[in-house]
Amino acid sequence: MALSFACVASLAAGGPMPELALGLARGGLLALRPSPEERAWGGPSAILNLGACAQSLDRLTARVGVVAALRFHVRGIAGFAQTVHGVEPEEIEALTRRHLRAGAEPDEAGLRALLADVEALYADAVGEPWPEDPGEQLEAAARAMARAWRAPSARILRQAKGAPEDAGLGLVVQRLALSLAPGVSGCGSLQLVSGRTGAPEIAGGFILRSQGLDTSPSTHPLTRAGREAPAPTLDVPPLDELAPAAVERLAAAAATATAGFRDAHLVEFALEAGEPVLIDSVPVRRNARAAVRIAVDLANAGVIGRDEALLRIEPRSLIEHLHPQIDPTALRDVFGSGLAASPGAATGRLVLSSEAAMTAAAQGEPTILARVETGPEDIRGMHAALGVLTLRGGMSSHAAVIARGIGVPCVVGAGDLRLDPVARTLTSPDGRTFREGALLTLDGTRGEVLAGAPAMIAPELGGAFSELLDWADAVRDLGVRANADTPAEARMARDFRVDGLGLCRTEHMFFDHERLTVMREMILADTAAGRLAALDRLLPMQRADFVELFEIMHGLPVVIRLLDPPLHEFLPRESEDLHALALAMGLPVDQVMARARALREVNPMLGMRGVRLGLVMPEIYEMQARAIFEAAIAVNRDAKAPVVPEVMIPLVSANHEVVIAKARIDAVAAAVQAELGATLDFRLGVMVETPRAALRAGDLALSAAFLSFGTNDLTQMTYGLSRDDAGRFMRDYVSRGVFTEDPFHTLDLEGVGELMLIAAKRGRAGNPDLVLGLCGEHGGDPSSVRFCKVAGFDYVSCSPFRVPIARLAAAQASLLTRDGADGGR
Ligand code: PEP
Ligand code: MG
Repeated sequence: MALSFACVASLAAGGPMPELALGLARGGLLALRPSPEERAWGGPSAILNLGACAQSLDRLTARVGVVAALRFHVRGIAGFAQTVHGVEPEEIEALTRRHLRAGAEPDEAGLRALLADVEALYADAVGEPWPEDPGEQLEAAARAMARAWRAPSARILRQAKGAPEDAGLGLVVQRLALSLAPGVSGCGSLQLVSGRTGAPEIAGGFILRSQGLDTSPSTHPLTRAGREAPAPTLDVPPLDELAPAAVERLAAAAATATAGFRDAHLVEFALEAGEPVLIDSVPVRRNARAAVRIAVDLANAGVIGRDEALLRIEPRSLIEHLHPQIDPTALRDVFGSGLAASPGAATGRLVLSSEAAMTAAAQGEPTILARVETGPEDIRGMHAALGVLTLRGGMSSHAAVIARGIGVPCVVGAGDLRLDPVARTLTSPDGRTFREGALLTLDGTRGEVLAGAPAMIAPELGGAFSELLDWADAVRDLGVRANADTPAEARMARDFRVDGLGLCRTEHMFFDHERLTVMREMILADTAAGRLAALDRLLPMQRADFVELFEIMHGLPVVIRLLDPPLHEFLPRESEDLHALALAMGLPVDQVMARARALREVNPMLGMRGVRLGLVMPEIYEMQARAIFEAAIAVNRDAKAPVVPEVMIPLVSANHEVVIAKARIDAVAAAVQAELGATLDFRLGVMVETPRAALRAGDLALSAAFLSFGTNDLTQMTYGLSRDDAGRFMRDYVSRGVFTEDPFHTLDLEGVGELMLIAAKRGRAGNPDLVLGLCGEHGGDPSSVRFCKVAGFDYVSCSPFRVPIARLAAAQASLLTRDGADGGR
């Protein structure tokens, strides 16, 4: 029988025990089990073997023999003494050691002596003899459980897991299963799926003549194949060889529980001389990968609908499918931590420069690249390394954005580590020093740096994972595009089945060695003619880039953003590198130094970048526009689906910037069409990255076909918080509750979100066909995706590896905002 929440509350307050339960107690040994409203809220442990008294000893002896009967009684009194009266387990253990030989089967004489001593210990500790009345025992046990549930520490713990202040506990009074009886008796659990992969298999464990489910060296697996939990030793025969009929019945019970509770459930059971007794049924513990397989299999079996399967998966957990991860059971020697900037884990030798990463990669040696921060000159090193660690930087710093784009695990803002470029070492806060070449592992999912090489689990993208995402695509109505700058990233994006590219950061196309040289020539040119000569050499390279992107994307929309960063990012920072550059270009060192000085900005994120650069040096945008249009026309000659390029102007703050840039881009489009004798459709878009652009979106929308919110910059400027410096204090801020989340990671709905809503409303008021997108890093964050759906956006765009998360999050947003979700499809 079950005691209700109300009854337990009344017991805790000193109220009476129901007569029916007291009556039950007189009929034989009982188990009292807690039953919270939510399992996750925890609760006191079960109290077993209640009702132990002289009469029950006789009755049990007749049924299961004196040894088993004595064991039930010893355990019953000892357990009661501990849980109800707080007797120390060590005292019981000392008595057990005195009377029973370790590892040997207990004998009657030893057990009788032990029982007498445990009763004496009880009387001593409690000040009264052992209560022979079973009803009294049950009542005291129920009150103890109710008190434990209401203890302040238990309350705080469950409230941290979302339990309400007045969360209730029910109690279940069960006839005790005689699992210590002779023959095939004991306790175990059985499940029909693997908690590691979600694949169908009978897994679980069984401990002969036991009570409870603790792992023991003598744990029997359920079958020879299912040796998963608890971990058995191989020489113990599986239960289906000892009691095949019982395993069959238990499997049927687990199937019934799974169908009834509409989730993979395991059964906790006891065997009484081969006869199964069900004790409980609980959801199978599972990792993120198994959760997907289980949800998909349940939907395919018709147990739940597809919509429900979609809603059961936490979108962020899909990360575990996409990247190698550290095996959760592996030992972790963590010596540093920072922000988890790009997920996945990688092991390699520590290198402190991009050159070293490239040299090692050429020899097939995996590396972890550690830098104070990264800049454009590190891009090739980042490609060469398997993981990237920076001491500075936030979630949208250079290292974080690039690493997410190329799918390399990355930890940024690990400010407690010290990097000594002369001694070539990395030192942890507790003084451990790692030399270049030391074997390290980077966990970008948790933001940790580990010594050594813990065991890994490989990514898995097929099967249930892709089936679930197919279902998500069928449901979602918010577009999901990718931010991709290179053909490799675009291909990756296609593999993740995006609806297009929402952001191609063209500055990332210039970091290739050959292009960087020409770019530097362009920057160092004194005259417009000199600049044009360099741009003429860049034009065919850019055109080829765009042709490749358009071809890869097969007519899907491709947004190309015109050059954004400040020019000094393309020049070396160190003086010896500037000397080398001057030498290579045949220019006086003074001239190169002076130019670098002239371009240097105190805060490079807010200076001459984006459209400001485009207006001051119009040749750059004109070259890029020409490259885009020529590429589109070239591809359209053979393509079945015509390319309609989307050209995007970055970092706008004034409408006049757009008007001028648009006039120039239109003029280039007209010239290219006339020169090539072809017509071309294209769309012009504006990035909303400054608060002013958001407020003036009504004007901007008059000359733009689309507005794309660059929420990295919009967050930076709304907060007045540099995205590269945020890592220094963000963890502190979040842990102290100053910010509930890192706003560079999860969109700040109250501030940045409000600006976006204002912009969306004003933009669409003047231009009802205006397409709205988001292309900051928030595009891969589930709650930000939901916001975009609710705000009526057309798409979000994020790094390719976050596309699956966005697809699922978008589907969930559609399901949660439509009437009467599911329908059992
Ligand atoms: C942004 O600011 O959100 C954006 C997408 O541009 P970037 O990160 O390149 O500045
Ligand atoms: Mg930006």
